[in-house]
Amino acid sequence: MKIYISADIEGIGCVVRGEHASTSGRDYDTARRLMTQEVNAAIRGAFDAGAREVTVCDAHNTGPNLLPESLDKRAVLVMGGSRRGY
Ligand SMILES: [Zn+2]
Repeated sequence: MKIYISADIEGIGCVVRGEHASTSGRDYDTARRLMTQEVNAAIRGAFDAGAREVTVCDAHNTGPNLLPESLDKRAVLVMGGSRRGY
């Protein structure tokens, strides 16, 4: 089983204001950390359920949000704004 996760920052738990979602917002770093933690939970759940591959797309803005150094290393991360239809 292959899993593709498209993660946006809006909808992450406790991400509720523009200061979270804007790269210049005062709470943006907190939102990035929370987003990374939630995506890690989804990755863990996917592998626990038998996934062989997990690909994660950072889908907010141009995709600079997830913290690569903190993301579950078993997943492949797609980030950046050059992908079609980002
Ligand atoms: Zn977004």
